[in-house]
Amino acid sequence: MTAPLSTLTPALSPPPVLPDIRDQSRETLAAAFNGWNVPAYRLTQLLQWLYERRAPSWDAMTNLPKSLRDQLAQTWSLGSFTLVLKQGTKEATQKFLWRLSDGSLIESVLIPANPALYGETADRHTLCVSTQVGCAYGCRFCASGLDGWKRNLQPWEIAGQILEIERWHSSLPKGEQSPLTGDRLINNLVIMGMGEPLANYDNLMIALRILNAPWGGNIGARKITISTSGLVPKIRQLAEEPEQFRLAISLHGATDAVRNQIMPVNRKYPVAELSAACHYYVSRKGKMITLEYILIQGVNDALPEAKILADLAWKLHAKVNLIPYNTVEGLTWKRPDEKRCITFAKAVRRDGTSVTLRMEKGHDIDAACGQLRLKTEKELTATAVSDLSQPIELAPA
Ligand code: SAH
Ligand code: SF4
Repeated sequence: MTAPLSTLTPALSPPPVLPDIRDQSRETLAAAFNGWNVPAYRLTQLLQWLYERRAPSWDAMTNLPKSLRDQLAQTWSLGSFTLVLKQGTKEATQKFLWRLSDGSLIESVLIPANPALYGETADRHTLCVSTQVGCAYGCRFCASGLDGWKRNLQPWEIAGQILEIERWHSSLPKGEQSPLTGDRLINNLVIMGMGEPLANYDNLMIALRILNAPWGGNIGARKITISTSGLVPKIRQLAEEPEQFRLAISLHGATDAVRNQIMPVNRKYPVAELSAACHYYVSRKGKMITLEYILIQGVNDALPEAKILADLAWKLHAKVNLIPYNTVEGLTWKRPDEKRCITFAKAVRRDGTSVTLRMEKGHDIDAACGQLRLKTEKELTATAVSDLSQPIELAPA
């Protein structure tokens, strides 16, 4: 009788996954180079390959000796992800759907110059970045949380969204590239893609520090806005960090009654605790925060809610960014009509608060983050994304 095959051949274990080199700080890399007796200028060359020239492989790093490239390849991996789908044109919002090495799908959204939103001056491009695959927070209106949480993104998978898009952009024929004033496409980041960034805090901080560093992405901390649904202890932790990252709160309701209805996180961290944490952040940083407020018909668009929102914003010295809700397939929430949105915006502004209302041309079924992934996973054919119009700026009355 022959032995079963499994007893004859040892089970093949997958090769060990090395940590990615773009998860490492400059100090870690410098210590390794030191240990290998490699001169410091080689580290400068390596960092240029990683973050300026966005090299896709070790072999592409042609001015590094082969022996050093081999040593690097034995110590770290250099992962990449694949562009599955791109929607939109260079004049408008462009959405990128990526497949990661484990098959997970994530989205990034590239938004052309729009100084009125998060940047201070005429920005080149803003990138909206994902931090998790799916989301555990299950806000009732959001596509990202519909299938639950799958995993946290690694630091390099967060930073890699910027690098991959810049690599994609530089590979386009000149006529198809967006005009640039410098050599980088992206100089403004909003951490508002799929996932709750503050629930992946440590990886986010590693990625943002690399993107912020002069030897890395060289994007100023003031050009990076982190959006959260309201994780109070993490907002306080962020307040203690030395960098001046900007903070946006996905408020979407100024009272517990409204927030509890649409955001389960509010049961853990109600409005009073959230606003105290925001106060703390503002007092530590001395910077204005933004309150994001999606307008959903019949849920949070009543005028008394606008008054409470105005009071809250005024107390926090916060800006308010009103966004008419984008319909999500499978969910019944609707956006209010344009007149209602403008009336609500004026009611918030009346109390002296700075308000932005971002209206879109036409209705855009795929506009909200997480929807593209959801659709693709359901193997539906994606439709084209319509343009975002300029935001309507309402100065304080
Ligand atoms: N988890 C973080 C960041 C990602 S969500 C957060 O909640 O802040 C980014 C923003 O998109 C949030 O303000 C979120 O409330 C908003 N959003 C989600 N679904 C939306 C939809 N269908 N229409 C408009 N905005 C939406
Ligand atoms: Fe998660 Fe933010 Fe969507 Fe809420 S709004 S489910 S926190 S991604």
